[in-house]
Order: sequence, then C-alpha cells, then structure tokens
Amino acid sequence: MNAASPRAIPSVDRLLAALEPHPLPRTLVTRVIRKHLAALRSATIPQVPSFAELVAQLRAQLETLAFSRLQPVINATGILAHTNLGRAPLSLPAASALNAIAPGYSNLEFDLPTGQRGQRGAYLESAIALLCEAEDATVVNNGAAALVLVLRHLIRADRNEVVISRGELVQIGGGFRIPDILETSGARLREVGTTNRTTTDDYRAAIGPATALILKVHRSNFFMEGFVESPDTASLVSLAREHAVPFVEDLGSGALVDIADLAPVAHEPQPQETLRAGADLVCFSADKLLGGPQAGIIVGRASWIQELKRDPFFRALRCDKLTFAALQATLETYLQAQSGQRVDRLHDIPMLAMMQASEAELRNRADAILLAIADLPATFEAGAGKAQVGGGVCPRSTLPSVTLRCRPKDCSLEQLAARLRLRPLPIVGFIAENCFQLDLRTVFPSQDSALIHALREVLTQPQDGAGELGL
Ligand SMILES: *Cc1c(COP(=O)(O)O)cnc(C)c1O
Repeated sequence: MNAASPRAIPSVDRLLAALEPHPLPRTLVTRVIRKHLAALRSATIPQVPSFAELVAQLRAQLETLAFSRLQPVINATGILAHTNLGRAPLSLPAASALNAIAPGYSNLEFDLPTGQRGQRGAYLESAIALLCEAEDATVVNNGAAALVLVLRHLIRADRNEVVISRGELVQIGGGFRIPDILETSGARLREVGTTNRTTTDDYRAAIGPATALILKVHRSNFFMEGFVESPDTASLVSLAREHAVPFVEDLGSGALVDIADLAPVAHEPQPQETLRAGADLVCFSADKLLGGPQAGIIVGRASWIQELKRDPFFRALRCDKLTFAALQATLETYLQAQSGQRVDRLHDIPMLAMMQASEAELRNRADAILLAIADLPATFEAGAGKAQVGGGVCPRSTLPSVTLRCRPKDCSLEQLAARLRLRPLPIVGFIAENCFQLDLRTVFPSQDSALIHALREVLTQPQDGAGELGL
C-alpha cells in the first residue's frame, strides 16, 4: 500500500457502542450501520469519513428513521380529513372499542347462540343499511377497493364498457385515478361529453350492447364553475333503467348527515339520497365525513351486495376485526343520534364536532392561548382562517376558522415550523401571509395546553435541529 492508504472502515460493534444507548431497537440500529458501511464499501469516494463523522452520519440517518415511526401529531393545518395525517380521527367510543377487541378474541365469525360459525360483519352491515336506507350493505378495505370490487363484478368479457363523463375522469389524491381504477378492473372506458359539459343525451348515445354500467363519480376534490352541465343522478337512473343497465355512483365522502346543517358549507350528497334517486349501488369511504376508520362501504340492491360478497375477490378486500370494531362503534353513535335518543352524541364524532365548533368558541380559545404566550419573543395575533374538510370533500366550501399567527424574533418561519414538527408530540402548522399559522379548528381543545407548552419551549430554548425522539 502507498502512503495515502485509505482509512479503515470501523467495525459494526464499535459504531454500535458509540451510538448506544439509542431509543430505536438495537437490531434496527445495527441494520442502519450495516447498510451504511456497505454503501461506503461500494462507493467510489476517495476517503472513508472519520469515526466521528461516521457516527454523526449514522445519528442523522437513525433520527430520520425514528421520525418515520407512526406516532400521534397535533393537526393545526385546518384540514379536517387530512390524508397525510391519517384522515378522520376516531371517536372515543371507537377507540374504546379497539381497546376492547384488539387484545383478545372476539365473535368476529362465531355465532354465540348456536356455537357455530357465524356471519362476519352481519351486525355492521345491518347498521349501515339502516343508516343509508339501503336494502343491504357491505364493507371492504377502502373506497378504492369498493369501486374496484363493484366494477370487476359488473364487467363481463363481452360487456365491459363503463360509460362515464369526461368531467369525472378525475384523480383523487395520490395514486387514485378513476381511469386507472377502471382499467385495473378490466373495464373499457366509454367517455362521454366534455370536461365541462355532459348531457343525458351524451350518455344515451354511448349506451350499447357492450355497456356494463353507467358510473357517476362525485367530483369530490375540485369543482367547476361557469359553463358547466351534468345530469343529476335521477336522470341517469331513468336512462339506465330504460336500457336495463346498472347505475353505480361513487360518492367518495359518505356524509351520513347533512353537513350543511352543521356548518356553513355546501350540501354534500348523502348515500341515502343517491339510493332514493334510484342508484343500484353506491360506494363511499368510511374515514372522510363519516368519521370512522379506513374502510370502503357499498350500499344498495340486496341481491347484488350478496353477489359481491360471494365474489372470490371480496376475500382479498375484506376488513379485519379492528376496522369492524371501530366502525361498529362509530355507526352506533349515528344510530343513537338518529333515533333521537341522544342527538348530542354526534359530537362524539370528531369530524362532526370540528365542523360544528363556532367561530366564537375558536376565538375564545385563541384569546386564552395568546394570553398565555404573550411574553414569548415573537409577535402573535389571532386571525381569520379558512379550514377545509379535506380528503377530497367539499372543495368549494371552506369553514370560517381562527388561526394563531406567529412571527418569531429569533428564527425564521421555516425554522419555527420545523422545530414544532420535530417535537416529541409534533405540531403541524403552515406558513401563509408571511406568518407561521396554527388553525385551531383542527386542534382539539384538550391540546391547547400542549400548543402553549410547545411554543414556549421552541421560542425560548435555542435548538439546533431536531428535538428529542418521541420514543
Ligand atoms: C376519496 C375518494 C375515493 C377513494 O376512497 P379511499 O377510501 O381513499 O380509497 C374514491 N372516490 C371518490 C369520489 C373519493 O372522493
């Protein structure tokens, strides 16, 4: 070897000893070290970093890894069903149901009176059917799965065309494009109309012997204004009847109650309305406006629902006991409210409670928080905010809200935002109008004290980079 011999790569054990104690499980730490060393060996870098540099690099990687663990956060974005933050928060009854079912055995598929094998989801399905005024109902893993199952089931080799408006070939969130879902299901698109205008006659002209169904997709994450036309569900239903083809509507959000009664937002179509208008099948998500766990619900014609459940593909999409437990508890809250026993119970559903909070309530909370943080090195004020339902719901409606606006004295807006995100209980706000903002509509009142505490810590304790890991 010549004089400039390369620095030796340290052993895994030596690096592990230097990193310990680490909050992540030791096997994970070892894996990160091994991967990093393997990358160093295969890289064509001229010099192996010093031991101290190497430890610092590994610490940074471990920190990134630790932050990717699933953990609670405070949502101060003002987006209620925030897809990146886990969509609908569950109600306390739903959380207790998880607690009751998760650690033990349950009668998931067991009939207690006879001691025989029972029907999975029977109680849940009848609760959904009742709430949606449907003949029957069933549940799968999510809204996308519900749509795929319905399409696959209604499509035959010689009858595979799905008639759909060009204005509804939409993308809903990451990776959910209606055209792709249709093609995955073996369907052929029969696009009708134009992006902004589709008439009943456009649909009529497209129906033929190859038509498998007419599909209407609720344009849930955007809206069009101006020279816009599309037939309502009832006209499409009568057209479908005329030609004896099924009519299916993908509603997306699944509002079981009229949200326009709860908050100053546009009416969101409810499954029961769509069924009353004559739709054969309607599908929607359980974790948007409904406020339950991730699931996809299909309601409608009993004979079709029964067939869907016998489709071998159904087995690949079925939900587990935890989803059933949380959904059952959520739906019981609606049933109790509906039967007039406890209308106030709807407040138990965080999605609905957040929608219902009045501006005065939010303003009072903001005032109390401002009082508690008045001494901090930043300027604070309460401002008007615009919360959104999110999850692709009510794109045209924003909910009047109240935001705490902050301009820190000793750091940038981005630094403040990052420091709050990197805390043991991360807080996610946003930067707008040259302020860092926290929208109080999506912060639970019980979290206000955590906001105060966090702002005090990040604004008074100089930090370099991340806080502690939340382990
Ligand atoms: C959200 C949405 C879906 C997808 O539902 P997931 O539960 O996210 O799978 C499908 N269609 C519409 C119209 C939606 O809004």
